[in-house]
Amino acid sequence: MKVTLLGTGSPIPAPDRAGPATLVQAGAVNLVFDAGRGVLMRLAAAGLIPPFVHRLLLTHLHSDHTTDVNDFVTTRWAMSPVENPLPVTGPPGTAAYVERLLAMLADDIGYRRAHHQDLGWDPGCDVVELLEGPHPDDPVFAEHGVRILAAPTDHRPVAPTIGYRVEHEGGTVAIAGDTLPCTGLERLCAGVDVYVQTVIRPDLIQSMPVKRIQDVLDYHSSVEDAARTAATAGVRTLVLTHPVPAPFPGTEDEWLGIAAAHFDGEVVLARDLAVVET
Ligand SMILES: [Zn+2]
Ligand SMILES: [Zn+2]
Repeated sequence: MKVTLLGTGSPIPAPDRAGPATLVQAGAVNLVFDAGRGVLMRLAAAGLIPPFVHRLLLTHLHSDHTTDVNDFVTTRWAMSPVENPLPVTGPPGTAAYVERLLAMLADDIGYRRAHHQDLGWDPGCDVVELLEGPHPDDPVFAEHGVRILAAPTDHRPVAPTIGYRVEHEGGTVAIAGDTLPCTGLERLCAGVDVYVQTVIRPDLIQSMPVKRIQDVLDYHSSVEDAARTAATAGVRTLVLTHPVPAPFPGTEDEWLGIAAAHFDGEVVLARDLAVVET
């Protein structure tokens, strides 16, 4: 499998980091996890356009992870020659989120339908909400030799939140999203080739005297947390993404060193469009 870090940013705008989004390509299947700021620009850079994405999977409904779902839905609709609703998987609340999103887009939908006579349908999403019934060990998607498993993560008070595990031809990838270490996360990460974790640096955040930034400390994995999870789970490669604060140029080795103190495997501090293979 090929993992492309489409966007590695956080809510804080950065000139070189789009919002959180990760592309996992398993054989001919293209899966996008989260759709942060600029996701379609990065997807284009990775050689893909929205009609060719098989599924969008949301880890949670925080705006930095969902802000460009509207671009995804609109552009897929406008670029597809036939009706091609976007399959979307996410936590409970995703269907209502999509419904409100489509309502927001009503003006644009009206303009395009009036102008393009061959566009005879509205944009749409086929939504599957998780964690309200299916056993977490059952795959939420199993097609074309690809299995996707999901488990609850811990990003409270944002709840529920979901992490994912993709399996294909012996390769394994865990996409954690924003979460503290927890049993669901450990289960997703067990023995994976690639573990993608959003991270923060408490030591740097603590030096910023802004209450709203300090608040992020209690619901994200630190670099140390991610490294310890990777070590416990027997991960091959740990990918640090969504770093808060964004690393100053020249400090990358510091981030990698903190992880290496707790984890012997490979550590990657992701930049946009970085590629890691299983
Ligand atoms: Zn986030
Ligand atoms: Zn979040």
